[in-house]
Amino acid sequence: MTQLWDFSGGIHPAENKHQSTARPIRVSALPDYLVLPLQQHIGEPATTLVEVGDRVLKGQKIAEIGTGMGVPVHAPTSGVIENIGHRPVPHPSGMDDWCITLKPDGEEQWTELEPLPDYRSLERSQVLARILEGGIAGLGGAGFPTNIKLRPPKERKVATLILNGAECEPYITADDMTMRERADDVVSGLKIMAWILRPERCVIGVEDNKPEAIAALRDAVEGTQIEVAVVPTKYPSGGEKQLIQILTGMEVPSGGIPADIGVMCQNIGTAVAVSHLIHEGKPLISRVITITGEAVREPGNFEALIGTPIQHLLNQAGLQPEQAHRLVMGGPMMGYTLTTTAVPVVKTSNCVIAATASELPDPAPEQACIRCGLCAEACPMELLPQQLFWHSKAAEFEKAEHLNLFDCIECGACSYVCPSSIPLVQYYRYAKGEIRVQRAEQLKADRARERFEARQERLEREQQEKELRRKERAKAAAEAQAKKQAEAEKAAAAGEAVDERAAKAALVQQALARKKAKTEGAATPTAPTAYAAPAEAATTEKTMAETPDLDALEKQLTQAQAKLENMQGMLEEAKAQQADNVDKLERAVAKNHDRVDRAQQALNAAREQAAQTTEPQSPD
Ligand code: SF4
Ligand code: SF4
Repeated sequence: MTQLWDFSGGIHPAENKHQSTARPIRVSALPDYLVLPLQQHIGEPATTLVEVGDRVLKGQKIAEIGTGMGVPVHAPTSGVIENIGHRPVPHPSGMDDWCITLKPDGEEQWTELEPLPDYRSLERSQVLARILEGGIAGLGGAGFPTNIKLRPPKERKVATLILNGAECEPYITADDMTMRERADDVVSGLKIMAWILRPERCVIGVEDNKPEAIAALRDAVEGTQIEVAVVPTKYPSGGEKQLIQILTGMEVPSGGIPADIGVMCQNIGTAVAVSHLIHEGKPLISRVITITGEAVREPGNFEALIGTPIQHLLNQAGLQPEQAHRLVMGGPMMGYTLTTTAVPVVKTSNCVIAATASELPDPAPEQACIRCGLCAEACPMELLPQQLFWHSKAAEFEKAEHLNLFDCIECGACSYVCPSSIPLVQYYRYAKGEIRVQRAEQLKADRARERFEARQERLEREQQEKELRRKERAKAAAEAQAKKQAEAEKAAAAGEAVDERAAKAALVQQALARKKAKTEGAATPTAPTAYAAPAEAATTEKTMAETPDLDALEKQLTQAQAKLENMQGMLEEAKAQQADNVDKLERAVAKNHDRVDRAQQALNAAREQAAQTTEPQSPD
């Protein structure tokens, strides 16, 4: 016997479930067209993989998810893509959204299926990848992608896996009928999820108003360690947090998720979808949906292909249009009014109520709050609905948030008991929506600011780097200049010595040449030749011996002048920069002047000598 706990608050509205449980689940007839929204779950919309005119097979993937959170969409039957565009989708706002319209060809021709009967021999990540590929999102709530939910953070070990079969909202019986008729599939899907998560405890929670489902499940779990826990009927015991509290005694912390306390909840329909995918290879292309209300003659549950227009199901349930006062998608507590029956069944559609005026009358006009406190007594989340209402109405969103507005599960229990007919949940939804918009804008502004600051930082960094490079270049230039100057000074000093040595060497050379010529002239009598007169021959030899090297002296003079010019240039530059080496350079210029003078004198002297030695000799 499973130990149970209770949650605070809760209500007992009329159940109105028996109307739709009198008949077994009927398989819906194939409609003329199927409308498949690209977004049927929390996260990003899928991206279409087909074009108008394409023929597709049953189970073929026709829309794929990108990088964001989501699941793919599959063709529920074989046929031709008729349209890709905006169509009405199930949403409280009555909005349109992108949909693929498929015209069935009636052949029900399957694509190739790849079941995984030996899934236990695979890696868990492979099975999770298959669950993603199968397009499975939670069939019981907002449609959270199942593969993501089955992959909790590593540090949050799931100790208890709960299958939520409470189905506490009035009128809805889709899970009840599924458990009655497909208990084996329910348990099979639960085993697959348990194999992935390896919890210590698996439990199926069912309200005590479903005896047939409880009996079927007990048969199905025979011989396993799976518990079937029968919980008292009270709305909203099927709320995730409430069922967890009933079955474990633990409360999910404010703002937290069940995994924070080691618990995970999955829906009955989701378990069946997982079982069909893994054991038969079938992606999620259909679901059980309740069509009920006093305006239909034959209320019941239908196995409907995803994309089936609601009108098509209402027709099969015997809709009496003249009786239908209000169409509600979902239950009377948490559902919303449908503005058109053209909307399709999506993965999260569990019920449509075609209600008469007496059955679901228009809400009474809103009255002033009388501060009776009934709303607080009914709230299963132990919130302060009255204060939340005031703050939401006064657009004091921060105060509402401070009172844990986001813990509100929008169960509608407070609205249900309010004697002033205040549509409290609508105020909370409005406040949550506004806060989300503000958060999104704040996030956008923060991102813009971060981008701006990052750009400023980058520009400043680039400026600093530029300045650093400029300084390094200036430093390198100064060092090069200093080096050049030092080398020039060194060269100037060396050049002076070289020039002086060269000039001395030239003079010594000339003297030696003259001496040699004299010596040779005295010792060797000049022999007459056939080609020159003796006087001419003697003159030629003397000239060759005594003529100084004019080319070398001219070269020395040119070099000395070039160095002088160079030194003068450096001196002027140093003076312009008021450098420290001006005196030094002035001395160097003066020395170079002297050197030029000496080179000039040496050249002049050499030229003179050359002129004398080349004058014609007197025959005397
Ligand atoms: S139940 Fe209605 S009237 Fe009573 S306190 Fe709450 S909001 Fe006010
Ligand atoms: S709708 Fe929100 S505030 Fe009202 S009873 Fe439910 S959880 Fe409490």
